[in-house]
Parts: sequence; structure tokens; C-alpha cells
Amino acid sequence: LVEWDEVMKKEHFRIGKSIYMIVFFIFIFGVFLEVTQTDFILKTYRYQTPSNELKTITKTIKIPEDVLAEIEDQPFLIIYDSAVKESIEIKDNIKQTLNYMKQKSEEVQIESIPPNFESYQMVIVTFEDIDQFPSIGQMETYVSNGGKFFFAIRPDLDGAFYKLYRKLGIFDVGGFTTATGIELNSNILMNQKGLIIEEKFIENSILTVSLENRAKVYAESYQPKYPLIWDVEYGKGKFMVFNGTMLLAKDNRGLIAGAMSVLLDDYMYPVMNMKLAYLDDFPAPIPQGYNEKIYNELKLDIPTFYRNIWWPFIQKQSAKYNLKYTAVVIESYNDRVTPPFNSESDSNNYLIKYGREVLKMGGEIGVHGYNHQSLVTDQNRVEHLGYRSWPNKENMVSSLNSVESHINQAFPGYHLATYVPPSNAIDLEGIEAISIALPTITNISAIYLPDGTQTALEQEFGSKGSFIYLPRFTSGHEYSVTNKWTIANGINSIGVFSHFIHPDDILDGNRSGEGDWAGMSKGLNSLFKDVQKKYPWLISMKASEAADFVKRFEKSDIYIVDKANKKIGYIDHFSGEVSFILRTDKKIGKVQGCKVEKIDNGIFHIRAFKETFEVELR
Ligand SMILES: [Zn+2]
Repeated sequence: LVEWDEVMKKEHFRIGKSIYMIVFFIFIFGVFLEVTQTDFILKTYRYQTPSNELKTITKTIKIPEDVLAEIEDQPFLIIYDSAVKESIEIKDNIKQTLNYMKQKSEEVQIESIPPNFESYQMVIVTFEDIDQFPSIGQMETYVSNGGKFFFAIRPDLDGAFYKLYRKLGIFDVGGFTTATGIELNSNILMNQKGLIIEEKFIENSILTVSLENRAKVYAESYQPKYPLIWDVEYGKGKFMVFNGTMLLAKDNRGLIAGAMSVLLDDYMYPVMNMKLAYLDDFPAPIPQGYNEKIYNELKLDIPTFYRNIWWPFIQKQSAKYNLKYTAVVIESYNDRVTPPFNSESDSNNYLIKYGREVLKMGGEIGVHGYNHQSLVTDQNRVEHLGYRSWPNKENMVSSLNSVESHINQAFPGYHLATYVPPSNAIDLEGIEAISIALPTITNISAIYLPDGTQTALEQEFGSKGSFIYLPRFTSGHEYSVTNKWTIANGINSIGVFSHFIHPDDILDGNRSGEGDWAGMSKGLNSLFKDVQKKYPWLISMKASEAADFVKRFEKSDIYIVDKANKKIGYIDHFSGEVSFILRTDKKIGKVQGCKVEKIDNGIFHIRAFKETFEVELR
């Protein structure tokens, strides 16, 4: 129809017969497009409940009791100093990492160290003052008999250290220094050998050590350069030293999992294996008019930018890099926290137009909110965001009812499963409001890593009350080094990639990093491309599918037994495929109940299709 106006404006132009025909066809085509986007046509669509296929959980298979009774499940022992905050934090971080890996662990304070370590798969020390150890001899005996001993923080230069340091592969030690960055000289994080991070977000207090050649160094600090993680044989076992202080942070869990899996022999652990991509604030009302930055670069107004540039680019990313989008809806950008909760005039059109395409691409529509005011009642929590807190739960409920009927008008009968809190912030009242207003919502996706605001809901994967928590790791159109590090660590520890972007990242100076569209699109393309290239085995999922998987994963108990030359896996309460990562220098022989593929040097991805499966190692 724009074309028609253009033609009419040029009155001096002599319009030939064929031009009339073209204009006529454009007009008819335009009418056709409009009609297909009306409610009338949409109501004739029958959308499949997205979680239908996943909710039909196959029966849960139990491993027979007599088989389970035979399994010797060796726990990890974590020793911590209850008087030191950092020690408790490292202990908690390692314990959670082991929980995800379905490993049993026991935690003891220094005062209660057991008299011998023989029954433990690994002993992990999370404090620096190793003089407090009752006996160095005890750890030496354990390791020389085949034990694995892991210093998860660099030790202090005390008496015990000087008794022990040669056995740790150290031939010379200077003092302490602060080192920034990391360089991986191994694939301790899979497919990341050679990764260099110079930035300060990785910082450690380290010991300036020189190592003997027999020590195997997995990573070094970047500036100054010193060994950061190594292991060394002692008798039949091994010592491992993390010569730093950063394993208390959640971001580094991949490094913890990697360290354990190289320290143990032929180590195999389960991962959740999910690849998720969220479109926050989409579909949502689109600002009208012009934005200086977009106009200067592309000579387009904002709605045209979204329709002709951003959205086609995002659609192409999905096809190229195997992504299923979870798009979370905003109905209005007003800041009302009291009724009435009305729709903006264009809101419905955008929802129908873009929402349909999201669904057609195999994606999911979830709820972000009636508006972008986080569901919290405490004004202090949202003051810095420029938001208004809600006076009560009832108003939250009625705003959520509004967005539900907004979505329902566009997609009648659509089953809503996912909620993403605006600015990742929500409080208990907010969570209760969701249960009341939107009882079909099963999963809440806030964030996995602390964002430094104290406002965001920081989550772990798993059930929480009546919801599944399904946090996101990374965000934005930029493939920053922090994104790179977070992604690698998330995939190495639990096999999860979960990224979110906003269509308006470009309008936001902070989120666009002042970059233009050319730079931002290049950034996002290289992020998705790199993940697809390095981790092609990740399974792309919608949030609802992932939440269902998390529920099943949580219920299963997993045991790995070494028998002759075989790894035998038992998945108790088995309800479907589970993925594993196996580290071994051996060759893979016969396999049963699973499929094995090599994904890096000495690293294999195993898909177990049965409750009992076997991998022969040669
Ligand atoms: Zn948002």
C-alpha cells in the first residue's frame, strides 16, 4: 500500500497499463497478507500444546535393588575451614558442581577429618592454611596408594607446604602475586585448548612457582605467566594443584569439572545437554519513529528496522545454528501497577505477526509480563531500575491475567509454560502471583550467575516449590570474553548453553556496547556460530522442553561402575535419554545401550538410551 501512495504522489508520471496491473497485484497481495493475519484466520489454527510430546513421560524404569546393592559408590571428600568465608564458598561451589554431575560428596570441617581416605574417590581441600592438616603423612599414604588429592585453592607458604611442595611437582617457589587472565594449554575445557583470556575478570592470588617437567600443566595465568593448574603423579595416585583463588565463583564451574575429569582416570559424568535461546521482550510493542543510531547507519525507522533487518537476521541464525527460540511477551511498556491494565494499540498486531513466525520456526511463546515492571513489592529492589514496585499481589495477578488474555486472543488455546521475570527480578509475592494467575506456567527462567545488582533472582537448575528453575547464563549481541568464558564453563560443567537477547539491545547504550548494527549482528553471529562449531552435540530445546528434561534429570540417580575394561552406567529412575561426557586416553571398543562420538582429543559424548549401558575401553 505504501507503493500505491508513492505512485499517486508522482502525478506527472504517465502510468501505463502494465503498471496498473502491477499495482493491482500488489494491492491484492497486501489484502491477502492482512487477511491471513487477522484473528479470524488464526482461530482456525490448532496449535499443538508445545509440552504435549514431552509431558507424555515414558514410564520410569528402576534398576533392580540387588544390582544397586552391588554398586560401590565412592564419594568425594571436601574438607573446609568453617572459620574462613572463602573456604565455605569454594566448598559450596564444588559441592553444587558435583551435585549436577550426580556425584556423592561428603563435607567435613578441618576438626573432623576422617582417619583415612581410602573409601573416597577424591579428596578436595578448600582452604589455604594446610598447617591445620593433622597429618601430611595421611595424604601422602592416600595418594601413593592410588588416591586423587586436589588442592582447590593455592596453599599458604607454611611449614606443611615446605614439607610437601616437592611432592606437588614444585622445585622452586617465590612468593605470592596477583595474576590476571588465563591461558589454556590443554583441553581441560573441551574444545578450548589455546583459549587466552587477558581480561581482569579472571584474577587470582597465585604462588610464583617453577615446576618440574613431570608436572602436567593444564592452564597458566596470563599476566604474569605462571602455572595455574597442574597435576603430578605420586606413587600410584596423583596430586592436583589449583594455584589460584577463583574456584569460589559460579562462573568457573567448568574448570572444576574439567580439573576433576582429568585428575580421575577415564572419568565419565552426566550432563543435561540443552541449548536454549531466549528472545526477551518479544513480541512486544515496538517504538515508533526514528532512533538516531539506527537511522544514521541504515536510514530506517525503528519498526522497519525490526521487520526488515533484525527479525530476518534472527530467523536466519535459528536456521544456520540450530536454535529454537523461546520468545517472551510484553503487552505494554507503561509503568502501571494498578488497574486498568489495557493493551497498547499495536501490541496485538505485533504479537500475531511475530508470534506466529516464532511458532512456525519450532519456537515457544512465554510470558515476560503485562509490562516491564518486575513483580516485586519492595521499592528498594527496583528503584535503581527506574521501576515502580507493586502495591500487592492482587494487582500482579490481574496484570498477568491481562497478558494471558492478550496472548490467548492471538493464539487461542496456546499452552503457556515459561515465565521470564523482567530485569530478572521477582520476589515471593511475584512467584505466588504467577501460580495464581498462570497455573500452566511450569518454569521460571531468571539468571544463573550473580549480576552484581542483588536484585536479580539467581537460580540453580531444578525444582523449587511448584516450579522448575531454568536459569540463563549469558546475554546480548556481543561475543565478549566474559560470554566466551561463561559459555565454555556452563557447557563443561552441566552441558547447558542458555543465552538471551533483547530486540532493543541496539537502542540501549549499555547493552549494545555502543556498537552499531553491523558490529552487533557480527557479534551474535560469531557467538552462535562458535557454539555450534565447538559443541554440535548440544540438543536445541524450547524452555518448556528443557524444563521437562531438568525434571527427569533431577529424578534420576546415576552410577558408573568400572568392570574389567568396561564403564557400566546405571540410570535409576530412567525416563529417557541422558548424555555423558567421557574423558579417556583409551580407544572406544564395543558399546551397548548407547551411542559414542568423539568430540575432542580424549573426550567423548555418550548418549545413553537405556537404563543400563556399557562402553568398552581398550
Ligand atoms: Zn525484558
